[in-house]
Amino acid sequence: MKKPRMVLLAGLLGLSLAVMNGILRAAPQDAQDLFEQANQSLREDNFAAAVAGYDRCLAADPHLLKALFNRAIANEMVDRAKAIADWKSFAAAAGNDPELKYLAARALARVQILEGLPPLPPGLEPSRYVTADGDYYRLVAPDSDGLQWRHFPVKVYLGSAPEVKWQYGAREAFNIWRDVIPLELVAIERQADIRVDWQQSATGERRAGEELDWVRFERVGDQLTGRRVAVITADLSRPWSKDEMRAIMLHEFGHALGIKGHSDSKKDIMYFQMQEKYRRLPVPMPVTQLFWKSLVKNPSQRDINTLIRLYNSAGYIAPLH
Ligand SMILES: [Zn+2]
Repeated sequence: MKKPRMVLLAGLLGLSLAVMNGILRAAPQDAQDLFEQANQSLREDNFAAAVAGYDRCLAADPHLLKALFNRAIANEMVDRAKAIADWKSFAAAAGNDPELKYLAARALARVQILEGLPPLPPGLEPSRYVTADGDYYRLVAPDSDGLQWRHFPVKVYLGSAPEVKWQYGAREAFNIWRDVIPLELVAIERQADIRVDWQQSATGERRAGEELDWVRFERVGDQLTGRRVAVITADLSRPWSKDEMRAIMLHEFGHALGIKGHSDSKKDIMYFQMQEKYRRLPVPMPVTQLFWKSLVKNPSQRDINTLIRLYNSAGYIAPLH
């Protein structure tokens, strides 16, 4: 069993040598400067500017493969067809170099993913990304890979809440997200992609201990014909108001729509402190209510930007330097 590991190590060594010798070979200074400028745009999530920057860079040095690689990443958030073309060009150019085989294979894997993505609804198109607001994509991308829906509208079953005000809160959350991504209410539970399970919520079976997320993805049916369903359970142990339930459901819908993980900003609906805080501190009710009232009422543009990136990207990948 030692041999494969040796081969792997040799491969990794080869890759790092390749990175030093091949991809990172000294470019003409102007191309190198243009490359760094474009990288800066990419770091700032200014994807269109990054693509334009890599265009200039590749005009100065058409053989600078790292610029082609990074332009492919940027193009995933600008123009999917161009991203596919870039990944193919990169794979073709890098595939000849045994030291770059690994990156060429990754490029081809991305082509496959991107070609399999459905046309996106307008709300998830890259043009809706607002650069000034940024995103928290890097925080959630690795865990969120593959959790995005591939058909629209996404069907939602809201069920019957134990209290009418909670039903209204859940419905309002549904309406708010429907403005971002096509959702359709269904009356039959087994037709749903996302369903709220109030019964399970009430028994609390699924939310033991410090578990933060109350959305779980289940498979219905067998491996081949089966499909994925997101089940939302909510904490019903407190007398939440309608608005509080709307805030809870807004957050849980965010998970069910494909954001696995949390934002680091209180301004975002996917900020996680709301669960943690009341779980760890047995606060008296008035304080809890104050806390909930301070919550944002809608997904922020940053939440939406994150969702747009998750739906357009072929998965998290680090740019080359
Ligand atoms: Zn959460």
